[in-house]
Amino acid sequence: MITDFKRAESVDEAVALQKEGYHFLAGGTQLNNAGYRKYGAAVGKVVSLDALALGGIEKKDGGWIIGAGVTLQELADSGAVPGALKSAAGFIPTRSVRNIATIGGNVGAKRPDSYIIPALIALGATAETVDGMVAVEEYVSSENGSLILRFRIPAFEGVCKAVKESRSHLALPVVSAAVRIAAGKESIGEAVVAAGCVARRTLRLESVEAGLLTGELLSGELLEAAIASAVEPKSDFLGSTAFKKYENSVVIAECIRACLKEARR
Ligand SMILES: Cc1cc2nc3c(=O)[nH]c(=O)nc-3n(C[C@H](O)[C@H](O)[C@H](O)COP(=O)(O)OP(=O)(O)OC[C@H]3O[C@@H](n4cnc5c(N)ncnc54)[C@H](O)[C@@H]3O)c2cc1C
Repeated sequence: MITDFKRAESVDEAVALQKEGYHFLAGGTQLNNAGYRKYGAAVGKVVSLDALALGGIEKKDGGWIIGAGVTLQELADSGAVPGALKSAAGFIPTRSVRNIATIGGNVGAKRPDSYIIPALIALGATAETVDGMVAVEEYVSSENGSLILRFRIPAFEGVCKAVKESRSHLALPVVSAAVRIAAGKESIGEAVVAAGCVARRTLRLESVEAGLLTGELLSGELLEAAIASAVEPKSDFLGSTAFKKYENSVVIAECIRACLKEARR
């Protein structure tokens, strides 16, 4: 339960309060959860980022700048952000949550089943934090807890898509992944495959990416087999390891083939 609430009037104040043990409060959809799983216990001291004006979506030099305070509903409604990010934001099933939850909070929470993190990784996004620029991939795989001000997505080549799979519309996902492929008629120039729900943090499936670049995974069901052996999801109430491996291999392979088909058009 939140017992100590402060509102930062400046970035410096928010950072100073973090050093005193306050947690950044954006939408609060995670932080207000009892026993918030990032910390394993409910959070007591929070500093609201509300007054820091961290919103805004801007297109610049062929890329995008997205404020950490942009809500998932704003992303889902936006015609200005990459399609993979727009659809990933829409995967969160409840509009009331999307209206409050922010992109900064989503990355800050570092949930392994985040829909947003795989899309940002596939798009090569960087987080601009108070301590400098850091790739989203690195931010979520480290203990970095620096305040994120905005995200920068560079102009990219190829096709990027995000996918999810859950047992029902409202259920937590067993697949949350994003793929980006840049390809010519004969070869694949770039392949990024980012998967959530398969480990403690969102992962790049590097063996699959390498096999796509050499072309060796493109025939038969080699792709599904390579994805299944690259992931080791934990068995839990959402399904067994075998079930999750199967779901991830089929859904991600389908996404890769769809990206490839579109990239070669
Ligand atoms: C029932 C329910 C189910 C959900 N299921 C999913 C799901 O399956 N997949 C999914 O992707 N999302 C899911 N969400 C959405 C989830 O809440 C997101 O993670 C949301 O985007 C968090 O944003 P927030 O602004 O509410 O973050 P908050 O709860 O305010 O903060 C989350 C964390 O990020 C930190 N933080 C906040 N802002 C920043 C910042 N600018 N810089 C650095 N750190 C920051 C906080 O200190 C905290 O540790 C679910 C939400 C609910 C309520």
